[in-house]
Amino acid sequence: MDAENQARQQRKRQLLQELAELHVEEMVQAGGFDQTPHFGTIERAASGLGSRLSREIQERASREVAADSPSEAPCPTCGASCEVTTKRRTVKSLDGPVELTEAVAECCRCRRSFFPSADGDGTR
Ligand SMILES: [Zn+2]
Repeated sequence: MDAENQARQQRKRQLLQELAELHVEEMVQAGGFDQTPHFGTIERAASGLGSRLSREIQERASREVAADSPSEAPCPTCGASCEVTTKRRTVKSLDGPVELTEAVAECCRCRRSFFPSADGDGTR
């Protein structure tokens, strides 16, 4: 593990601990600890935050993939060079709805849209 990766892992641990602190703080302020809470209540609150993190990661990762797309791609049907744009689409993930950013190209000749691949061959 190189120094950069080690620092990233350390930062992630710090942020996760900080998130846990903030989350429990919120639960305390909301009165969740006025009486001893059932562990299931704590678990559900924790799982909810985990799902939010998952959705954030999915949305961020989709933007990363879209950013790697070429600016033009050949139409898989006629081969014409088509401009690639990005579109947002809400999909249902295991952790709830996520707004994905996708690279989409539209062929003016064929009047069809397609998902360009990062290597530009029009297939995915
Ligand atoms: Zn075409």
